[in-house]
Amino acid sequence: LFLCFEGGDGAGKSTQVLLLTEALEERGRDVVVTRQPGGTPLGAQIRELVLHGGHVSPRAEALLFAADKAHHVDELIRPALAEARVVITDRYTDSSIAYQGAGRDLGADEIRQLQHWAVGGLFPDLTVVLDVSPEVGRARRGEVHDRLESEGDAFHAAVRQGFLDLAARDPERYLVIDAGLPPRDIHEQVLDAVQALLGA
Ligand code: C5P
Repeated sequence: LFLCFEGGDGAGKSTQVLLLTEALEERGRDVVVTRQPGGTPLGAQIRELVLHGGHVSPRAEALLFAADKAHHVDELIRPALAEARVVITDRYTDSSIAYQGAGRDLGADEIRQLQHWAVGGLFPDLTVVLDVSPEVGRARRGEVHDRLESEGDAFHAAVRQGFLDLAARDPERYLVIDAGLPPRDIHEQVLDAVQALLGA
């Protein structure tokens, strides 16, 4: 089973990834947790380069995130799924479509095609979008840690809309949750949806 969390910066993805991992492990599932960018040693270098390496042109940024993803899928995600493990990823193709497509204005369709090619058509069984407003995201992020987090509210608003548009295209494979809810409430909604997929 392949699960993904998406959402703007400050949406609380890491907390939910942790809660879901604990819950599934308690139920005897073998869980692999990973993230994009940075889920592999090469990915960690790409992450460092893109987020902390100074100016990157928008197209180069899109290609670097795509390269991270291609490597991640080949080296980590597909092998884990082949062993019937549950894979939970903190961000996947939708972050690229929302950030580089909607946020950077490169065109969501072009980025979608690039991402589709990069991951060889492998998409999550369920994507949870933690929907956060730019204001709440900004307050939660606190101090800015990387280049993209320092973008203004208009950028983050475009990214948010990008996620909502993706969810609306394919409602069966998406769960959109208000990121302002208490973390435990969010977790319960997520766990219900995942249990349904696992037939538990
Ligand atoms: O959530 P995380 O800290 O892993 O994200 C790292 C940064 O990379 C975030 O600022 C996010 O906005 C950005 N990002 C991006 N495009 C992606 C994935 C992440 O701009 N495809």
